[in-house]
Amino acid sequence: MSFWDEKIEFIDRHDLEKLQLERLQQTVARALRAPYYRRVLGEKGITADSVTSLDHIRDLPFTTKEDLRTETNDDFLAVPMSEVVRVHVSSGTTGTPTSIFHSQADIDAWSDLMARCLCMAGMTKNDVFQNMTGYGLFTGGLGLHYGAERLGALVIPAGTGNSRRQLMLMKRFGTTAIHIIPSYALKLLDTLHDMGVDPKKELNLRLAVIGAEPHSSGAKKRIEDGYGVRTANSYGLSEMNGPGVGFECPHQTGLHIWEDNYILEVIDPSTLEPVEPGVIGEVVMTTLKRQAMPLLRYRTRDLAMIIPEPCPCGRTHRQLSRIKGRADDMLILKGVNIFPIQVERVLMDMPETGQTYLILLDKEGSIDTMTVQVEMGESLVGKPAETVNKVASRLTRLLRDEILISPKVELVAPGALPSSEGKAVRVIDRRPPEDETA
Ligand code: AMP
Ligand code: ZN
Repeated sequence: MSFWDEKIEFIDRHDLEKLQLERLQQTVARALRAPYYRRVLGEKGITADSVTSLDHIRDLPFTTKEDLRTETNDDFLAVPMSEVVRVHVSSGTTGTPTSIFHSQADIDAWSDLMARCLCMAGMTKNDVFQNMTGYGLFTGGLGLHYGAERLGALVIPAGTGNSRRQLMLMKRFGTTAIHIIPSYALKLLDTLHDMGVDPKKELNLRLAVIGAEPHSSGAKKRIEDGYGVRTANSYGLSEMNGPGVGFECPHQTGLHIWEDNYILEVIDPSTLEPVEPGVIGEVVMTTLKRQAMPLLRYRTRDLAMIIPEPCPCGRTHRQLSRIKGRADDMLILKGVNIFPIQVERVLMDMPETGQTYLILLDKEGSIDTMTVQVEMGESLVGKPAETVNKVASRLTRLLRDEILISPKVELVAPGALPSSEGKAVRVIDRRPPEDETA
């Protein structure tokens, strides 16, 4: 088994909690240098000395995305701006983007954490790593890049898109490992197929790091089968650096959260009380090592559960389940709560479907309707309408079993749906705003 930092990865839980307490105290001391926390912690009379046990984390206030948005950026800075060497901006899919500042020490710690993740996933300095995600403000580009370099791999900073060039690079340098957003990985499979390339036969790939967006186990299996690789799920969010927060080891039982760098809590979003391991709730994180911009009890809006069992790999850092979705992604249709990932789960388990889908929400009169458009798989292309309709009806039935309402299913030609090289847009809500229909 490969590990980057044996002492930390396999640390005894008792020692880990001791380390967490020390780092939490340091974090509170640092946070008090930031105007925002000086104010909110000051109101509660909290100082670093008030944190004498890990349970005291519950005395600390939550921090939300709205807090980050409404305060001016430097309100969260715990160091002078001259110490800041990089800023990342979150994708802002759900509103105004937020800025996250990093000192050199932060970048070094993040790169080290990323190297730890990649090493755990089985990557070594002998790998050729093609980073096929955006290199802009999106943290997946530079985050993985620095980590893979720290590990000593040969890094190809390919960025997104241009499938022909991606293929050329993979062939020319014998790429063995890739980092790619799952929806783009599926789309690229189609493109490679259209170019007459069988990745399993013609490429040297053995590992695909996939993450940045929710994906079903069916989508993961398609990527593994299509490219002939093992996948490693990578979880993170800009507010907590980006990737490197949670990562799958080869046992693929969940995402190890690096608890020497973060305190992990899972809470009931309505009562804000912690939930038991095995129960789904909102993931809340506190940074333990960040210097420039420490964040306390950040409410991620991501829904997942702590896996109660220890991982067979022996690492003591607890695991989070696959992310079920973001609280903001939840659709409410005819009074039923639905996550897009539930639709994906059904579609990706069906061999007749292609790689891309889109959920359309409309209103007919006062009734909400859902249409699921999904590309046909190869086996269905050119088949009589009757056969296609049968598959569509079967999908409607399976979807009803999963989401409790019956969507209309439209099977469309491969390549007919819009695709993205970044995070996929899965839902288009065309319903008029409430007040217009009232
Ligand atoms: P951003 O900080 O804008 O890059 O977005 C971070 C968000 O992407 C997280 O809060 C999650 O909602 C989502 N995300 C990142 N990685 C994963 C993953 N492996 N599985 C599911 N969702 C993810
Ligand atoms: Zn493990």
